[in-house]
Amino acid sequence: MNFKDLNIDKDVLKALDIINYKRATKVQEQVIKELKNDRDLIVKSKTGSGKTAAFLIPICEKMKIESKNPKALIITPTRELCIQIQKEANMIGRLKRLKTTALLGGRPLNIQINELKQRVHIVCATPGRALEHIRLNTLNLEEVEYLIIDEADEMLSLGFMDQVKDIISKLKKQRRTMLFSATIEKELEEICKEIMIDPIRIDIKDEVKKNNIEEIFYKMKEEEKIKALKNLIYTKKIKKAIIFCNRRDKVDEILKKLTREELHILGLHGGMSQDLRTNNILDFKKNLAHFLIATDVASRGIHVDDITHVINYDFPEDKENYVHRIGRTGRYKSKGHALSFITEDDMQMLNEVKENYNTKVKYENLPDKDRVKRAKKEFERYLKTKPKMKRDISHKLNKDIMKIRINCGKNKKIRNIDIVGMLFNIKEIKKEDIGIIEVQTTCSYVEIFNNKGDLVLKNLKNMKLKGKSFTFKKISK
Ligand code: ADP
Ligand code: MG
Repeated sequence: MNFKDLNIDKDVLKALDIINYKRATKVQEQVIKELKNDRDLIVKSKTGSGKTAAFLIPICEKMKIESKNPKALIITPTRELCIQIQKEANMIGRLKRLKTTALLGGRPLNIQINELKQRVHIVCATPGRALEHIRLNTLNLEEVEYLIIDEADEMLSLGFMDQVKDIISKLKKQRRTMLFSATIEKELEEICKEIMIDPIRIDIKDEVKKNNIEEIFYKMKEEEKIKALKNLIYTKKIKKAIIFCNRRDKVDEILKKLTREELHILGLHGGMSQDLRTNNILDFKKNLAHFLIATDVASRGIHVDDITHVINYDFPEDKENYVHRIGRTGRYKSKGHALSFITEDDMQMLNEVKENYNTKVKYENLPDKDRVKRAKKEFERYLKTKPKMKRDISHKLNKDIMKIRINCGKNKKIRNIDIVGMLFNIKEIKKEDIGIIEVQTTCSYVEIFNNKGDLVLKNLKNMKLKGKSFTFKKISK
């Protein structure tokens, strides 16, 4: 179904059109329809089927831009996923002038606190950092009407459950709660009763063609893995892959063993600084690296375009992670390949995967020497072509928006309404032309929509704010 036919807010619809979301996926269509009935939802749908926009579209639709405190809270298990969802929220809500923020650990608290002092509609957070802000009294959750728990089975498992319950205890009872995951089992029912009211279950079975991910298994001994990995990279012509290991030191070890000048490889695990983690995942998304070697920190939710292969260098230690890891490829309408290395010790877990997800275990032999030799030459040629950098689509949404900095703020007792009032003195400026306004201590920022930035710049020259002159500067367009 086209988004156009789903009766969606015009600014949200326009943003979707610009980022090339024309047709709703099944899960999106169902969630958008159900949420209009204002019910709690438990949503299960395959990896890569568009669950993020399924909750973001109706949330953005329901937000009122006038509200000052957050109305929606989205919680996620990892920092990288938190950033990714906030970015998507920012795109979908951009033209409706919604303000989003990401609260995650490993980032300076004071910057987040400053953001929370401004108007924020949608908050994406990891549980630990959300609780830290709650303790500091810097995150006001009193008005939250929508709680979204992404990767819900993970968030409601032992590792996170207490934190999530703590957060929920700060929310008002009259709210909508929505759970999303590709793996939600019956065991979750009890806890759902505690945190939800009479939820509707949406279970999308055939969203993406079943065999869009080819799964292949290789039996080997631990010490054979590194050679097998290199050889498969050559013979399978692996262009862009995530290689999963179970431990941080293993990630570092493989990084060292694979690294060579022409091959661009990055790592991702919880022992790295957050700056490095964020940079590495962004570089991988921009197509600046061929391979990402990661622990399960990258197994859930992370979307990177065009991943051709997922390699389980170590077989996962729980069955759900198998589904999530291989789900990093074959996303939306694309196809992908999952290669798993199996040692004697992995047989039990492999059987669990087989039984629970009807996985057909197709073994392949590792390639022989001659094939590897030929393929290696070809791969060397491929490495000489530089990867083409991918640009984030969000810039298209900013095309008609200009951000202007004004050199007075709270120190001169300026408030949002003073800036709005001043802008309304310009004849051509209407309410919908004024975007997000941030008043900080010594300066303020205002966004002008609909390509009217230059016009505002021209007029500001002769204007005063609370009777005082000021200087201003265009920040971006
Ligand atoms: P899931 O959470 O179900 O694993 P995501 O929400 O991460 O999947 O979506 C996967 C990718 O599919 C997104 O990054 C986006 O690029 C794409 N996508 C989602 N919905 C649409 C749509 N309606 N039209 C086009 N692309 C979409
Ligand atoms: Mg997701």
